[in-house]
Amino acid sequence: MHDSNTPPRAPTPLGDVSSDEIRAALHRAADIAADYLVTAGERRVTPAIAPGDVRRQLPPSPPQHPEPLEQILADYRRIIEPNMTHWNHPGFFAYFPSTGSGPGVVGETLAATLNNNAMLWRTGPAATELEELTTDWLRQMIDLPASFKGHINDTASIGSLLSLAAARHRVDGLDIRSKGMAGRSDLPALTLYCSEQAHSSIDKAAIVLGFGTSNLRRIPTDDAFRMRPEALQEAIRADRAEGRLPVAVVATAGTTSTTSVDPVRAVTEICRREKLWLHLDAAYAGCAAICPEFRALMEGMGDADSIVLNPHKWLFTPVDCSVLFVRDPQTLRSAFSLVPDYLRTDEPGVTNLMDYGIQLGRRFRSLKLWIVMRAFGVERLQANIRSHCSMAREFESWIRAEPGFEVVAPVPFSVVCFRATPPGSPDEQDRFNERLLSDANQAGDFFISQTKLRGRVVLRLAIGNVRTTREHVAAAWKRIRECASRARR
Ligand SMILES: *Cc1c(COP(=O)(O)O)cnc(C)c1O
Repeated sequence: MHDSNTPPRAPTPLGDVSSDEIRAALHRAADIAADYLVTAGERRVTPAIAPGDVRRQLPPSPPQHPEPLEQILADYRRIIEPNMTHWNHPGFFAYFPSTGSGPGVVGETLAATLNNNAMLWRTGPAATELEELTTDWLRQMIDLPASFKGHINDTASIGSLLSLAAARHRVDGLDIRSKGMAGRSDLPALTLYCSEQAHSSIDKAAIVLGFGTSNLRRIPTDDAFRMRPEALQEAIRADRAEGRLPVAVVATAGTTSTTSVDPVRAVTEICRREKLWLHLDAAYAGCAAICPEFRALMEGMGDADSIVLNPHKWLFTPVDCSVLFVRDPQTLRSAFSLVPDYLRTDEPGVTNLMDYGIQLGRRFRSLKLWIVMRAFGVERLQANIRSHCSMAREFESWIRAEPGFEVVAPVPFSVVCFRATPPGSPDEQDRFNERLLSDANQAGDFFISQTKLRGRVVLRLAIGNVRTTREHVAAAWKRIRECASRARR
């Protein structure tokens, strides 16, 4: 509305911002990104802020008029960047670290620039073919049989969901794709199996796909936190005896708490005998399978029906990038392919990535993976993984040598689960370890996390950042020891 008191403004310009402004801002962004990456270790891993602190610095309503990109980038530097938890920090030892390596950031930037939507080969020819190529490179790197075909999703959670949907679709006579599951007297309860250490994304898949969490059997583990195959066999037998229909088993290579590896060979044999789909959740440890010595821990992997593995976890590719391999891609396609008239194309024999999952549109994620694979080469990727595992083993040896501490799980890869063992009841020990965690993380130069094993609080140090060196790990250990001895006094 015109207000006679305000001077007339120039008409709002149309279209994108000017070419000069775009170029200047992208150069500036490149400098910001490079500065950030090379100084990643110089800030706190977690910002010392309280909930709401970021929102308070930003206007509550959107700008009506264009603002210069330069000013927006200045606000980014001032308000956004310092108030992040820095997953790129070499002292990030919590959860599973994820690195946005330099080459990965270049790929992500260019993918955003192309803004491709590779739902069909026709809508993204190079994106489709590069996704097929990079996933096939990865297949070769982990030595899977050539029958496996990969495609990229955002996360392992989605990969596992798709895989379990394909498993259900493969069971003859259910026809859930058209009839659904509700109100059917001809449908027995369908059951899934995973270990008690499996990731919560398997429960979520059971929820979304209508199996229900009470039909997900959580199989007990041995003293190294691996699924017990005889307990799996017994659970399947008991379900069949009671008229339920087992559908799929999820084995985990690299469980989230301890990185234990289920006995893949024994589980594949049970699945073959019982005609069950075997999905291997190798979100983290599957990356280590690019090294033959770690691949040996997952022996039998090539007999799974599907495998999910996250390059965004431990192959130095920025989030998000998760690869799902399936041995029989036709099953996955027939579970999900649905081509409306407006998406029909006439290229015969091409891959249309929309046929492999739920979503239609997809980002050009293979670009960053391709650039990372080329810039590192298999050898440098392997060397980084080996270095992380050897730093973890060294950290483990320090703990084993330290009175008042214990290592609570084997260390097959780059995660160490440990705890302080002060005198006192188990509950007092738990409280001590919780306090130790928060004291040790206080200074912000590193960040470790916790989990529970057999009901007890356990501290967890995970190495996986491409910039982490032995010095970072040694500094963390020094501080943890100091905090523990202060708390004991
Ligand atoms: C991290 C992790 C997941 C979940 O990964 P998203 O990609 O975040 O969904 C699933 N399974 C295991 C074993 C994991 O370690």
